[in-house]
Amino acid sequence: MRSRLECSVPVYRDEAVVLRAQKLGESDRIVTLLTRSHGRVRAVARGVRKTSSRIGGRLEPFAHVDIQLYTGKSLDSVTQVESIAAMGGALTSDYVAWTSGTAMLETAERLTPQEGEPAVPQFALLVSGLRSLTAGEHDPRLILDSYLLRSLAVAGWSPSFHDCAQCGSEGPHRAFAIPAGGIVCDSCRPPGSAAPSAETVTLLGALLSGEWDQADISEPRSRTEASGLIAAFLQWHLDRGLKSLPLVDRKTVGGVA
Ligand SMILES: [Zn+2]
Repeated sequence: MRSRLECSVPVYRDEAVVLRAQKLGESDRIVTLLTRSHGRVRAVARGVRKTSSRIGGRLEPFAHVDIQLYTGKSLDSVTQVESIAAMGGALTSDYVAWTSGTAMLETAERLTPQEGEPAVPQFALLVSGLRSLTAGEHDPRLILDSYLLRSLAVAGWSPSFHDCAQCGSEGPHRAFAIPAGGIVCDSCRPPGSAAPSAETVTLLGALLSGEWDQADISEPRSRTEASGLIAAFLQWHLDRGLKSLPLVDRKTVGGVA
């Protein structure tokens, strides 16, 4: 029989995005991470709020890091951090990009409910979404909406934007019913369904499948309508709404600056 020490691996290394950082005591911080291989992890980073700390600045929200953690009884401890990309800095000067990114971090935390359970697709979606946001590749609100749809799909709630979500009859159909799972045909349409424009439905499909050529040329009216439906779809699947989503300014939707 092997001893407990031989069985356990107390130190592990992973790639992570910092979702949240909270103060703890005088000089410590608790960080919530989404890691590539260990899913969502909460860990304590000791002494990082002292001015002499070399790793404190690498553990801010949005940071993409290579991190070493020591397994603890309740919380793991951060022992080493190397920066891969400090994405927060590039977002601070753009309010819409910043609030969109913050909503992405909160969504990533909410859609990985089980701590320590690997969530590789969620990690990959978050990193590529934040990179696109930092690089200013598209309107930040489109990047956010695409991320929300795709992370919901990865969580098992893929909406239908073409065939009827209830009976599967081939689209296009006009009605959109969140409890039914998306677009529904006239026979399945429940009372109170939304009736988005055909352009909006096309945009929703493009955002889900990542067809950016299509999404980038969409009209402001369709973007606003799509954002409203995506927000409602997300709220439906989460027990409580996102705190950060209402902060994203969706009133004046334009192209890439
Ligand atoms: Zn149907």
